[in-house]
Amino acid sequence: MFMKIMNEMEYYSLRGRAPGVDFREATIRGLAPDGGLYFPAEIPTLEEGLLENISSSSDQDIAFRAIRPFVGNAIPEGKLFEIVTETISFPFPLIMVNDSSYSLELFHGPTFAFKDVGARFMSRCLGYFVGAGEKEVTVLVATSGDTGGAVAQGFYGVEGVRVVILYPSGKVSSVQEKQLTTLGKNIHALEIDGSFDDCQRMVKQAFSDQELTSGMFLTSANSINVARWLPQQFYYLFAWKQWADRENPPVFCVPSGNFGNICAGLLAQRAGLPARHFIAACNANDVVTRFLAGGALEPGRTIATLSNAMDVGDPSNFSRILEMFGGQFHALKDQLSSFSIRDDETLDTIRQVWQDHHYLLDPHGAVAYAALQKYLVTDKGAKGIFLTTAHPVKFPDALEKAGVPEASQPAAMAGLLQREKYSTAMGPDYSLLKEYLQSMGITSR
Ligand SMILES: *Cc1c(COP(=O)(O)O)cnc(C)c1O
Repeated sequence: MFMKIMNEMEYYSLRGRAPGVDFREATIRGLAPDGGLYFPAEIPTLEEGLLENISSSSDQDIAFRAIRPFVGNAIPEGKLFEIVTETISFPFPLIMVNDSSYSLELFHGPTFAFKDVGARFMSRCLGYFVGAGEKEVTVLVATSGDTGGAVAQGFYGVEGVRVVILYPSGKVSSVQEKQLTTLGKNIHALEIDGSFDDCQRMVKQAFSDQELTSGMFLTSANSINVARWLPQQFYYLFAWKQWADRENPPVFCVPSGNFGNICAGLLAQRAGLPARHFIAACNANDVVTRFLAGGALEPGRTIATLSNAMDVGDPSNFSRILEMFGGQFHALKDQLSSFSIRDDETLDTIRQVWQDHHYLLDPHGAVAYAALQKYLVTDKGAKGIFLTTAHPVKFPDALEKAGVPEASQPAAMAGLLQREKYSTAMGPDYSLLKEYLQSMGITSR
């Protein structure tokens, strides 16, 4: 292997009113100062040999080579390899469900959902970037459930970073609460006597409080961060590694909410991943489905559904997809279809797939499976991979409604439920949060 001198990858703001930055700066900032999402100035082609030798390459090697050009010189190669290895320390199996539909299981990580990949990668990058600094970084997040768990687990034990998570008391599931409150060390859980909106409001106020932010290095772990978005390309490559039919590349069907995951897949395709087509599987939140059917791009109000991690009325990553296709509607439609699946279809799908194939789907995976079946009748000869983004054990109520057996608990989850909860109770009042953050002190290291 030749050592190549990397060109520095630049990221520009999609709003075009902020200077370009490198990967380090984009990760630390999250959003550009003009409020735009960062986008890579160039989409590099997959390294020569990567696809040809993929079946005999390790996942670590594939992931490292895919992400390296996006990181550029911001992280030395040895360190980056270590970060990648820690990020994907669990399996990504491809399971055949019927003759033409395969499940890419993304839920074998610590919080049993695919967000573990992005959260683990970002936390380690951020840890590296602040490692040499004097001040500790405080990551502040509000969560309605899943994101908080992935972020907490992702940052657990990362030096130089402490995490403060606000969650609404009594409004997250018991598994989700344990994932937030039982870690300790650098993870601090605040149980807010209020709603998720209260938590969100308190966090926003903290970010705009200059007195507070001048005294401490405060950042967010938002899902639009490039360091959460880009590593999601990894498992599309792992899927291709496991795909037997080299002559007939798969259709990828992705359960979509904020459109970060599918956008990473399209990016991997642009870099060279063989893919026949992409499908955005949506629930009743169908802004993109309507847009691709020829309608206007009209963000709507968020509608609550069974696949609640996809309840997004205004998907922020869709602007990255439009950028990738230069706003060319027909080119986009050529690569991307979308279907909107109702809750009753979701439940029917869970029931049907259990009866016919003895495969247990969670509501998000069920939306994807259903959308893939709708697409396949229109494309003769196609076979597809649908991404299963969460473990069914996280959604016992939906399984019960569908009339299928309970999912058996992974060993790691049983242990979790027995651990003791540590959280600080707090009223829904910003001044209390500010006091708490200030009392943590500005620790110099
Ligand atoms: C976040 C999430 C999604 C949606 O992913 P996006 O990248 O926001 O489109 C789908 N399924 C599950 C289980 C999730 O947690």
